[in-house]
Formats: sequence, structure tokens, C-alpha cells
Amino acid sequence: MRHSEEVAIGLDIGGTNIKSGIVNAKGEVVHHLNLPTKAHEGGEALLGRIAGITKEMELYSDSKGWKVAGVGIGTAGQVNSRTGIVMGATANLPGWSGMELGERLQSQTGLSVLVDNDANAMAFGEAWVGSGRRWKDFICVTLGTGIGGCLIIDHRPYPGRDGFAGEIGHHVINFDGYPCNCGRTGCWEQYASATGLMSLVKEAGLALAEVHKPEMVFAFAQSGNEAAIHVLEQYTRYIATGLANMVHIFNPEGIVIGGAITRQGDFLLNPVRDQLSQQLLPVFRERAEEIEVVAASLGDNGGVVGAVAGYFI
Ligand SMILES: [Zn+2]
Repeated sequence: MRHSEEVAIGLDIGGTNIKSGIVNAKGEVVHHLNLPTKAHEGGEALLGRIAGITKEMELYSDSKGWKVAGVGIGTAGQVNSRTGIVMGATANLPGWSGMELGERLQSQTGLSVLVDNDANAMAFGEAWVGSGRRWKDFICVTLGTGIGGCLIIDHRPYPGRDGFAGEIGHHVINFDGYPCNCGRTGCWEQYASATGLMSLVKEAGLALAEVHKPEMVFAFAQSGNEAAIHVLEQYTRYIATGLANMVHIFNPEGIVIGGAITRQGDFLLNPVRDQLSQQLLPVFRERAEEIEVVAASLGDNGGVVGAVAGYFI
């Protein structure tokens, strides 16, 4: 008798979209569905939408003869991955904070449910089948609107006591710097996120007045625009400063960087690598070539794949 293929249902909950998919034991997304989050309808409506997607994915799996191991969710906000409770969520997901997501979805669907925050899920995906799969311990950062961070220790996200570990974006690199929406000033994410890049553009003034999006800064720099080149020098230095701090604290095997901005490839990463090695302590610098800085490889699927990694590894 042929064994039925085991799959899991992964969901990646953001403020705008819910990405979802059926993932097989090799970490491949074999069926996917993206829907708007409609966050303004509140937490209960969102839970209902998640349950609906799960049901649909389960029916699809049944029709293919696949066995569903469980559901994995990566959501924006802070999550206690042990209890499956969303402990904090921003205004992007009203009514989501306090949601007993794991327990309620489990009782509605009868399936096992794993919950973590989206940055941890994305990093777990990279650890399982992505750029970090060859390392045991690494740091994963996503440079987006803010900065998502996760420490992978022994191939798994390190949760800390409450599941909140890895808020790397909120380590301060300039205490007289830009105010951060967390209430502190000079957090790394105010400089090294895609939003941070646009703040540097604004500060650079009129010469870059026509630049509205991060990719335009890169295009201008590539065509030789001095102001854009200068902004990117500053920007990559800020990225490297935060990474150097993390390398000194954690001595990782490598660093995986995610986010749309990594589509710039080595044009972004090479100056970051150079800056990083310059900023490291001598004992680290001597081995700087061994601390690889690479782009995430799962792209938009990272969160969906990583949300279910716990069922397969
Ligand atoms: Zn902050």
C-alpha cells in the first residue's frame, strides 16, 4: 500500500494580506492562496477568515489524498509560541492582541496548530530549506517597513522566555537619533529598514527630490548620481553597524537578510559585507570571510513554509 503524502497548512498573517499554502515534507508549496486580511474588521473576523482558509486547504488536501499534519501560523505582532497567544499587535491588526489563536483555531478545526511571529516563521523557513539550511546558528533579519529579526539556534528560532526574543530592530544605535514608534530614539530599524533608507534620502535634500521608492535610490546610484551614492554609503554602514553588534554578541555562522530590498543583490550586500568586516573586533575580522552575509532565498513563501517547519524537522 502506498503511504499518503504528509503535508501541513501554513499561513502568514500581515496587515494587508494573508498568504497561505499547503507545504509538503520537502518544504515545497504545492498549493497556495493569497487573500486580503481586511484587518479593519477586527480580530474575531480575522480568526474566522483564518479558520475558513484552513478548512478550504484541508478539503483540497483531502481531495488529493494528502494527510494534514497540522496548521502553522506566522503572524505580525508578538506571539507566545508556547501558548499560541498573540501578546501584542500594532494598529495594523486591531483587536488581534490577546487573541488565543492556537487554542481557538485548534478547537474550531480539530487540527494541531503552531503559532509564532512572522519574523520567526520566515527565519525558520530559511533554516529548514532556505539560505540558512547549512548553518546551525545564524541571525535572520528582514529589512522592510521595520526590521524583523530572529536568532536561529540549533536550527530553530530562539524564543526567549515569552517568545519575544529577536527584536533586533529595536536595539539603539544612536541615542540622539530618529524617534522610533516603540517610544525610544535611534533604534536600528529607523536607519537600516527600507523606511530608514527613505529617511536618509529626505535628509539628503533636494538632489534626490524625485526619489520616492527604495529601488529608485539604487537606480540613481547605479547611474552615477553622487547624492544617491552617498546615501547608500550611509545606509549600508547603518546596516553593517547593527549586524556587527549582533555578530559580536552571538558569534553566528552567518547572516540571512530578507525583504524586497535584497532584490538589489550584491549591489546592496557587497558594501554591507565590506563595512561589516571593517567594524568587527580583530578576532572576528580575521575570520570575517567565514561570516557569510546572504540574501534570503524563499522570497514571499518564506513565512508560509517556515510556519509549518516544526511539523517536519
Ligand atoms: Zn524602536
